[in-house]
Amino acid sequence: MPQQYKNYIDGQWTDASNHAQTHDINPANTREELGTFPSATREDARRAIDAAQRAFSNWARTPMPKRGEILDKAANWLEARVDEVGAALTREEGKTFVEGKAEVARGVSILRFFAGECLQPTGDVYPSASASTFLFAERVPLGVVGLITPWNFPCAIPTWKMAPALAYGNTIVFKPAEITPLTAWYIVSAFEQAGLPPGVLNLVVGRGSQAGQELVENSKVKAISFTGSNEVGTRLAATVAQRGGKSQLELGGKNPIVVLNDADISRAVELTIQGAMLSTGQKCTATSRAIVVRDVANEYRDALAARVKQLRVGDGMQSDVYMGPLVSADAEKTVLEYIEIGKNEGARLVTGGEKLRGEEYAHGFFVAPTVFDNVTPDMRIAQEEIFGPVVGVIQAKDIDDAIALANHTRFGLSASVVTRDLNLALRFMREIEAGIVHVNSMTAGAEPQAPFGGFKESSSGTREQGKAAREFFTQWKTVYVDPL
Ligand code: NAP
Ligand code: MG
Repeated sequence: MPQQYKNYIDGQWTDASNHAQTHDINPANTREELGTFPSATREDARRAIDAAQRAFSNWARTPMPKRGEILDKAANWLEARVDEVGAALTREEGKTFVEGKAEVARGVSILRFFAGECLQPTGDVYPSASASTFLFAERVPLGVVGLITPWNFPCAIPTWKMAPALAYGNTIVFKPAEITPLTAWYIVSAFEQAGLPPGVLNLVVGRGSQAGQELVENSKVKAISFTGSNEVGTRLAATVAQRGGKSQLELGGKNPIVVLNDADISRAVELTIQGAMLSTGQKCTATSRAIVVRDVANEYRDALAARVKQLRVGDGMQSDVYMGPLVSADAEKTVLEYIEIGKNEGARLVTGGEKLRGEEYAHGFFVAPTVFDNVTPDMRIAQEEIFGPVVGVIQAKDIDDAIALANHTRFGLSASVVTRDLNLALRFMREIEAGIVHVNSMTAGAEPQAPFGGFKESSSGTREQGKAAREFFTQWKTVYVDPL
């Protein structure tokens, strides 16, 4: 009998008001159920919002160093369970155990970073035009914030929103992706065990269109930090703006790796594979376009195809597996559809391109790592986010053409260039339209102490992670103090 989990509202683990349930399934083996979870209604979300509102004034008045101690304790709790939480993450999301553990470790680092931020200055003192005035400005919390997160980084993304939200004195209603609730349960448990007061962090597991939509529409929620698809994110931001709320969006990507003709080809291939195939290509920063200067294009393509054919695909809990399944039947269907679209558009399938068959793959959502060649810039597979293990090779005449092609997209999250030529690397850094730029590393790396986010339609502006996170989760209060 799989364990039954609950929502966490006002410090209590509670059933959904309608007693509806969802089943958390392993995408590598759909016969394995990890637990049943509530399917929260709008009413449950309202109760969570009210609890967060009641908890706000005490939490905002709790000394910041004390808030930091709670973050630090949550970090310790999670760190002691990296293997357990990493395995849960792998079994519900599908990425390999190595990646699952690394993601939990990253959650720990994020919590520690913001625990440290709780000892940093909270504002600035200004010179006043008046001799008697003490003039300062302080960062103060917003109030209740809603965090809506996707399934692809079920530990790191919630943590990088929650840690700054709490550090700066906000209270939270957290709506994780409905298909990865177990990792969310662990994160909330870490805070419960760390002694976070009731109501400060509330968890509602349920559909975006129900529990999520309530957060978006409810004017008690002062701000929404959202990571997910462009379609949901842009609609949500319009609704939040209409009621005077604040929103932060981290959306899709179509991230290029640009390979110049002086590149070490085997290194370029390795970086492409890491960026495109780790996490089964389901990262917002995954590599989905390889833009390769003509002189080295054939050599690169052949080397890439040969390496991709060797990748071991399977259940991410097995230690020799490089790439796990897609997260769901829907995701598998979308990826297979894009592969058909690519073929019909005239791109050449070099390797992969099919659902994997055989006993090992019979109960999971396994698609072979896929490489297309002869991709042209306006094909749908070169423009739309596929969110799977598919990379398209596009030829460029020279560096000018390569940069123009790399920028020829509505997205601008991450980009990488492979070259030994410092001058060309510098040009790329200046001219590429991306929020995160890598020189000789994969498109998907990001460290938690640095700002994270994209240009163009990949992001709404204010950055997440590092010190940049403060911008979204606080507002300025400017104070003029005069003697009487
Ligand atoms: P999604 O469908 O937009 O879902 C994201 C979250 O929004 C989920 O919790 C979802 O709930 C919720 N939601 C859905 N409809 C809603 C509504 N009407 N109101 C409020 N919330 C709603 O995205 P996804 O398919 O899970 O995730 C993949 C996408 O995320 C990709 O496009 C990827 O690029 C993007 N992503 C971006 C970043 C970044 O930092 N830029 C990082 C990771 C992922 P349900 O669980 O019910 O669907
Ligand atoms: Mg979804």
